[in-house]
Amino acid sequence: MNRERSRDLYDRALSVLPGGVNSAVRAAPQPYPTFIERGDGGHVVDTDGNRLVDWVMGLGPMLMGHDMPDSVRAAIQSHASEGPMYGMPTEVEVEHAEFVCRHVPSVEMLRFVNSGTEATVSAVRLARAVTERNKIVVMQGGYHGAQESTLVEGDVDHPRPSTSGIPQSFAKHTLPVPFNDETAMHEVFEAHGDDIAGVLIEPVQANMGIVTPEAGYHEAVADLCDEHGALLVWDEVITGFRVGGPQCAQGKYGVDPDISTFGKIIGGGYPVGAIGGKTEYIEQFAPSGDVFQAGTFSGHPVTMAAGLETLRFCAEEGVHDHVNDLGRQLREGLTEVVADQAPGYTVTGLDSMFKLVFTRADGSPQSECCANGCRQDPSCDRYDACPKRGTDTTRAATDRYARIFRPRMREEGVLVSQNQYECNFVSWGHTAEDVERTLEAYKNCL
Ligand code: PMP
Repeated sequence: MNRERSRDLYDRALSVLPGGVNSAVRAAPQPYPTFIERGDGGHVVDTDGNRLVDWVMGLGPMLMGHDMPDSVRAAIQSHASEGPMYGMPTEVEVEHAEFVCRHVPSVEMLRFVNSGTEATVSAVRLARAVTERNKIVVMQGGYHGAQESTLVEGDVDHPRPSTSGIPQSFAKHTLPVPFNDETAMHEVFEAHGDDIAGVLIEPVQANMGIVTPEAGYHEAVADLCDEHGALLVWDEVITGFRVGGPQCAQGKYGVDPDISTFGKIIGGGYPVGAIGGKTEYIEQFAPSGDVFQAGTFSGHPVTMAAGLETLRFCAEEGVHDHVNDLGRQLREGLTEVVADQAPGYTVTGLDSMFKLVFTRADGSPQSECCANGCRQDPSCDRYDACPKRGTDTTRAATDRYARIFRPRMREEGVLVSQNQYECNFVSWGHTAEDVERTLEAYKNCL
């Protein structure tokens, strides 16, 4: 496969962009990333003219794939050519907010921002303001964007910044605990309950090879938050309008968070984030409340139009049925391939997300687990094999994924996510043929 132009662009980029990219994960895979020229349905065409089946899908936002329905395209074009922004309110942001409030069970009011990171920054500030407490509980291995309160690793007793540039004195306010571990959650509330402002948690850990919640776990966390006066903050930046359809993961799991963060899909492919939840909390943002929050581009008309029309199309056209069905076919097919050619590897995911996690260093057999559809059901005969914590994935052969797997899949004409941790996403633009071709590619690579 000719890739000269990607290589040349990367060489040029290395002189003017740190690491040659504008977001850290994009530099993988080495020796140089694939530069994209355009998208087409479930495919992308790279700058060398190679057509590739694309399961990266913008790292989540592109639920529709790369071809927009006419209604989305028309709304974007009219808003893009009419301004495109004013620093004053517009009708489309009201309509978008009304749509989200109508569909997402816990959301009565929301504030739009420009990224998932901005959303979690503001959600943390709001939880601290509402409770007048400092500490935030997060999940080990979780990701909530590039922000000071959550780029923290270690454990409750020894939290430390996971990047340089964050003072240790910030990290001490963040308490990382293992996902799916009720005992650990009880313990952190016992030790720090009076100072915990909130628990910031993804309903499904989607940045760590995809870890699904065990039955009863989220309910237990919600109860503990209630008991101790802490806010339950669900980060639905990835799961929002993907897992559980228009009601999001909170509709699927029947949990009622106090605050939720959104991003990705709600902007229809344009930069977006949002913090939504109960009026009594969200109203505390300025100007109705005293928690400062603002942004020049927030509620940008083009983004609002793209997001709203995308969500409307999804609700009316059975998009989630299509993507979930292909997701199931991928997980089932991959499970067969893995059982045959690489027993010990793990197929994870749910709805329209899938991932192949490489053999764990401890060698425990994990294949087939999630394709059974059990999703952490103890009565499933593969229950023990399901990854339970985000950190399980760090014990996988992540270097093998980076060195061999992704470049090989690309040679087969299939783009999968950049590293062992990020999900693969199914879109409305994908077809059963893309699934078959992808399974064939996995077969050849494994
Ligand atoms: N929260 C979660 C769960 C995410 O997966 C991400 C990004 N993948 C973010 C927050 C940050 O979003 P953004 O990259 O738009 O800032």
